[in-house]
Amino acid sequence: MSSPVLGSSERPVRVAIIGSGPSGFYAADALFKVEGLDVRCDVFDRLPMPYGLVRGGVAPDHQKMKNVTRVYEKIAADDRFRFFGNVKLGGDLTVEDLAEHYDQIVYAVGNEEARELGIRGEDLDGVCSATEFVYWYNGHPDYRDREFDLSKARRVAVVGNGNVAIDVCRILIQDPERLASTDIADYALEALRASTVEEVLLLGRRGPAQAAFSPKEIKEIAGLEGVDLIMGTNAMELDPVSRQWLEGGSAPKSATKNVAFLTEASKQEATGGRRLDCRFLVSPVELTGVDGVLTGVRLQLNRIYATDDGTPRPKGTNEHADEEVQMIFKAIGYRGTPIPGVPFREDWGIIPNDEGRVTSEGETVAGQYVVGWAKRGPLGLIGTNSPDSKATVAKMVEDLPGATVGPLPEGGVEAICNLLKSRGVRYVTFAEWQKIDALELQRGEASGQVRMKFTQVEEFLGALDS
Ligand code: NAP
Repeated sequence: MSSPVLGSSERPVRVAIIGSGPSGFYAADALFKVEGLDVRCDVFDRLPMPYGLVRGGVAPDHQKMKNVTRVYEKIAADDRFRFFGNVKLGGDLTVEDLAEHYDQIVYAVGNEEARELGIRGEDLDGVCSATEFVYWYNGHPDYRDREFDLSKARRVAVVGNGNVAIDVCRILIQDPERLASTDIADYALEALRASTVEEVLLLGRRGPAQAAFSPKEIKEIAGLEGVDLIMGTNAMELDPVSRQWLEGGSAPKSATKNVAFLTEASKQEATGGRRLDCRFLVSPVELTGVDGVLTGVRLQLNRIYATDDGTPRPKGTNEHADEEVQMIFKAIGYRGTPIPGVPFREDWGIIPNDEGRVTSEGETVAGQYVVGWAKRGPLGLIGTNSPDSKATVAKMVEDLPGATVGPLPEGGVEAICNLLKSRGVRYVTFAEWQKIDALELQRGEASGQVRMKFTQVEEFLGALDS
């Protein structure tokens, strides 16, 4: 007797998606939309709450951006979708367990770790990771107990010129009362209210034309009441390489917009508010301190040169500048964390793959796929993940005819629930998350916030079980 076709109504394809951030939801959605495919998706997350960086990364003063979760709620309402929150791959479940219960596995685990500068003094008190700071003010359970004492710093530096750097600057420099009605964690609001920060140095290793932040983000921060955007007198005098890069058409449109905006902004008079001092063409080369506490940063001045393909890159000169700072936030990008049993590319910090098919030492690993930042690195906005997940799903569908059709585990779709229960794992369903969601909104309403988040796993589970 021939085996049933995988993906037919006789034998639906069972997919495990690891990670419930945007890329995981878009992968489920793309699978549900494949015509004629009978599919079941189980989405696992190590946290009890879904939505990954939409909850833990998007800044509290960007509430509109968080409305994208309504799209994810619709995907989760499909009866082919199940959520298993509070389940850790490499702890509660192994890759072997997944292979027994599912035909295909999709890793949507993102990039959770911060990149390091790799310079002297990085272990001083006051040297912080922007990644952790962002998770902290957003109430991520793993980071809620970190301490960011802003009450002893007057001048801080933020390294990096991406949108994360701008988020961090904005949170540090705006009037904290603007955040009071958002879903910011209460302890973070308290720390910001106690902040003595008057000036933030935003350090870019390349010039204004190569800044990675979006025009919208720099405009927003420049428009904040009580904030002065400061640039050195010559900051907007572009070097010949950058000028040619902009005029030659190989620069992104955002670069032209950023340069136009910053040129105008550089002409504005300071009003005496909190200062955001944009320093371009500088790289921190040493962090200095007294008694283990950060007191300053040594900057190397850079110039721009063009690589063979014309890309403007920074090159250090022999000139240096020393700046006094009491805190420094590294916002120079993210990298992935290895998961036991899952291939990992240490140098890039991603899961090695060929267009979404996981590879190990150059060979494709059958039945394993990757989407989002874990696939391509920490680039792109939330929406970038939709076409990216679709592309991986296209490969998954392409592979179905040749896939091994394994036996269904005893207990059918309940088998994975039974396994988790037998291991004492208290998994959280989507219906349970929705109860917490409603409760968070209610608590928020009572305290004049859009939402008051649960920031501790025990508190979250306790609220469900009480
Ligand atoms: P990013 O956009 O890649 O920016 C990283 C920045 O760090 C770049 O300016 C980079 O400079 C710099 N950098 C890297 N290594 C460095 C080093 N060793 N020394 C000094 N500078 C260094 O990354 P991100 O800001 O972490 O953001 C990640 C993604 O999330 C981006 O696609 C971003 O747009 C997105 N995001 C969007 C929003 C929003 O829309 N509001 C908010 C947050 C994040 P070079 O350019 O010279 O490499």
